[in-house]
Amino acid sequence: MTEVPPPYHMSTDDFRRYGYEVIDWIADYLDSVDDRPIISEAEPGQIRAMLPDAAPEQPEPFDAVLRDLDEIVMPGITHWQSPGWFAYFPANTSPPSILGELVAAGLGVQGMLWSTSPAATEVEEVVADWLVDLLGLPESWKTTGPGGGVIQMSASDSTHTALVVARERSSGDPGKMVVYASEQAHSSIEKGSRVAGYGHVRLVPVDGRYAMRANALQGAIEDDIAAGLNPVAVVSAVGTTGTTAVDPVRAIGEIARSHALWHHVDAAYAGTAMICPEFRHHQDGLELADSYTFNPHKWMFTNFDCSLFYVADRGPLIDTLSIVPPYLRNEASESGEVIDYRDWHVPLGRRFRALKLWFVLRSYGAEGIRHHVREHVALAASLAERVETHPALEMIAPTPFGLVSFRHFDGDEATDALADAINDSGWAYVTPSTIDGRRFVRVSIGQTNTTAEHVDRLWGLIEQVAE
Ligand SMILES: *Cc1c(COP(=O)(O)O)cnc(C)c1O
Repeated sequence: MTEVPPPYHMSTDDFRRYGYEVIDWIADYLDSVDDRPIISEAEPGQIRAMLPDAAPEQPEPFDAVLRDLDEIVMPGITHWQSPGWFAYFPANTSPPSILGELVAAGLGVQGMLWSTSPAATEVEEVVADWLVDLLGLPESWKTTGPGGGVIQMSASDSTHTALVVARERSSGDPGKMVVYASEQAHSSIEKGSRVAGYGHVRLVPVDGRYAMRANALQGAIEDDIAAGLNPVAVVSAVGTTGTTAVDPVRAIGEIARSHALWHHVDAAYAGTAMICPEFRHHQDGLELADSYTFNPHKWMFTNFDCSLFYVADRGPLIDTLSIVPPYLRNEASESGEVIDYRDWHVPLGRRFRALKLWFVLRSYGAEGIRHHVREHVALAASLAERVETHPALEMIAPTPFGLVSFRHFDGDEATDALADAINDSGWAYVTPSTIDGRRFVRVSIGQTNTTAEHVDRLWGLIEQVAE
């Protein structure tokens, strides 16, 4: 008697049942996340040791998978979605974003060409264009104009792509090409320059507020030209990672124009704030920029990965990245009437990431996002005020958005003790860092569910330790 093999596929009935169960599991998780110790206490190798060395030969019941999710995976999870999350920057998710992600997985489309799933491209075009209006970006950056926006995996990818286009637009030996950014620029600028093959990265000095000094940029460019080098691109930051410092975008843009440099703007974190008009003075001068990136996957309630990349003119981008093998030729592409997003970044294949952003924008409305951004920024301002009036603490940088950066007057040891006490509490998590050779505490306020109650509780703890 020969045995009939099982179908191996999960039936749609089981999918339905486990699907409801998993949604319940996520809802329970989100409801209880603030009761969990934020930082995973797993030791190196602890999670691995609970997993078998080989993949299962026989199919396992899905109940067993879900059980191990609780017993093996969860002990190794750090809870980024806790409202006590004040570390790094937020990496927010939200129910509409989760549902968009789920639907994108369910459709499982490959949006590399318009013709491989027209909606994947056109929804992405539309949300990118919506965000041009919502963030007050130049009108010409819409896909209906000469420019356009595309969703990338990360700001690092967006910046790298911008630097590749800038390199192609220039000519001569890449070893002599120079990229400029401030001393406070994100590491992705140095990494992107290295991957793109630039010979030099010049980190330009900053002022007392940690913003790039435009005259120092001008001087560095002139020195490099005199030394026979080729200045090609400059990256300005609207909200640095260290302290959310804002570079003078307009002054940098004017210098870039006068020396024919590509000007890329990195607003990875702070871009979300621009949905509120009162923050837009921080990005004054964007009409002089060639490209821009911001991450809805930080502060805009859209789960990783979702990074917007805009170019003022899509021509050089497509010229740089378009290669058409015969099997990708099709009538729609040849007609020139459609966007093929594979020509807008390094990967060919691309998933339907626009769906979760579209769900979020519709579900919150611009009004809902503005409400939460303003609340987070007001909470940061109130914390900054309390720090300023505390006799043992001092602010080390301004708070233009949701980040409060401060230290203890007694020095590095006292500052680190403060950060340690917060992180040992189990319900709040901050990132200590170093600037100008001195330690400071970064409190980043912007997690989806952080409210005044959480910030008050954090301040209570700070006061207790800082005395
Ligand atoms: C977070 C951040 C980045 C990197 O973002 P990824 O999407 O993780 O690559 C780049 N620049 C700034 C200013 C950031 O804050």
